[in-house]
Amino acid sequence: MTDTLHGAAEFDLIARIRARVANRDDVVLGIGDDAALLQVPVGQHLVVAMDTLNAGVHFPEDTAPADIGWKALAVNLSDLAAMGAEPAWCTLSLSMPQSDAGWVDGFLDGFLELAAQRRVSLVGGDTTRGPLSISVTVHGLVAPGRALRRDGARVGDDVWVSGTLGDAGAALQQWRDGAPRDAFLRQRLDRPTPRIALGLALADVANACIDISDGLLADVAHVCRASGVGVSLRVGDLPASPALRATFDEDARRALQAGGGDDYELCFTAPGELRDEVQRLAAQADTAVTRIGTVIEGQGVQAVDADGAVWNASRAGYEHFG
Ligand code: ADP
Ligand code: MG
Repeated sequence: MTDTLHGAAEFDLIARIRARVANRDDVVLGIGDDAALLQVPVGQHLVVAMDTLNAGVHFPEDTAPADIGWKALAVNLSDLAAMGAEPAWCTLSLSMPQSDAGWVDGFLDGFLELAAQRRVSLVGGDTTRGPLSISVTVHGLVAPGRALRRDGARVGDDVWVSGTLGDAGAALQQWRDGAPRDAFLRQRLDRPTPRIALGLALADVANACIDISDGLLADVAHVCRASGVGVSLRVGDLPASPALRATFDEDARRALQAGGGDDYELCFTAPGELRDEVQRLAAQADTAVTRIGTVIEGQGVQAVDADGAVWNASRAGYEHFG
């Protein structure tokens, strides 16, 4: 293929990748043949998701290769988490302007660190020449009927969110404005934590779930559409990190929490009578969760202030920069 990095260089890169990969026992054949062979457990559903990161669009150009590697896998694992799936395998399509072994080594440092933590095996991929772009496909497993979907929210459900909101958006804003950068916020942008344990724990309690990639309001709107319901969110209850509180005033903070992208937290709905059970399961999964709203009749998301007045986001969703 004409877009393949030329011969030896491509083989060298693939060899570097292959040498560092650890295969799970259920990888019958990993990197090296025309395709991988994977042992899917009998009776499980295979869960598949794919996400692409483009330089300058999905991460600032100055992002360290190791952070790009981490994030490329993390955003994909976040999709599996939102389905309540257990991650197992992934494939990696790398497009880069020239064969750069040093860059690939750095990229793998972050990518394989997260893969090892979550017991995910890299089983194949493709390596081509082009603008810097990384596509990852993840494969996970879930028992039939136990996946968390967007279409199950019911009127009266509580709306919950994990972790804190707006940190990544805040880091992006500091980077764009050339403002002093907060290291914690930048870490939240560069190294999101996929909420896998929480996703797995929610199977018995959540009616609907989504991961927040484009911003809370935009992503909750997807749940509303899929479930045929409305959601009322209490803006004052959205969880904020100490770093976000310290660096942005209330208006700016709320806009980032409601509209900033790249949080990769889970937003889910669950019946009100399961409140204690949700808290118990979340604690077991070592993940903080906060109740931020209610599923209501109607359609779309409305955000309200503490006094019940409608709150208007200056930015309802994440706009790609660049
Ligand atoms: P083919 O010409 O059959 O597509 P390639 O030369 O593209 O073969 O790939 C050779 C082997 O290396 C395959 O097993 C493929 O899955 C793997 N591979 C190629 N690029 C990557 C990558 N970026 N990450 C992981 N595995 C890769
Ligand atoms: Mg190929």
